[in-house]
Amino acid sequence: MTIELTPLPFEASALQPFISERTVRLHHGGHQAAYVRNLNNMLDGDTRPLLEVINDAQGAVFNNAAQVWNHEFLWQSLSPTPGAPSLELQEEFDASFGSTDNFLTQLIQAATSQFGSGWAWLVHDGSGMQITTTANADLPNLSICKPLLTIDVWEHAYYLDYENRRPEYLEAVLRNIVNWQHIDNLLPQRSTNHA
Ligand code: MN
Repeated sequence: MTIELTPLPFEASALQPFISERTVRLHHGGHQAAYVRNLNNMLDGDTRPLLEVINDAQGAVFNNAAQVWNHEFLWQSLSPTPGAPSLELQEEFDASFGSTDNFLTQLIQAATSQFGSGWAWLVHDGSGMQITTTANADLPNLSICKPLLTIDVWEHAYYLDYENRRPEYLEAVLRNIVNWQHIDNLLPQRSTNHA
């Protein structure tokens, strides 16, 4: 085994009532674990870091490797103790979307509109923040932007709790358990001049 199933950064029950313990256990211990297992079976002793595998791979190897990376990033994007965006982060949201609330509304809209399985992302391209979506296992091009947040819109992420009501899932999760501190930590350093 070269790729590990990264443990959840919180208890499986910690995201309730927004995501049930049953969904988190199935999502992490079922779906994510299967991507890890499939990938290790296909890599056959290849010990390169995950991102190197993703960059070179196609087809099933890419799909499973990308899903491992996306899910590790997903759990880091959520928190049972979300806190609030820092002032610096609020300023970034103001500059790119008008306000933090507008950002959330636009992200929910984009994630709702992603047809079929995929992901919605907040990324930083060096000059500002953008919302983007990807289909199936795809992730943003890491050579041109830096992901700051992701949300999973595969049905396995919400169907047990919200059935077909994807917008309700997105409203609950994105308005209540976003890990703002994680976004803050990933934010590119800005040159500050207090002189
Ligand atoms: Mn998933």
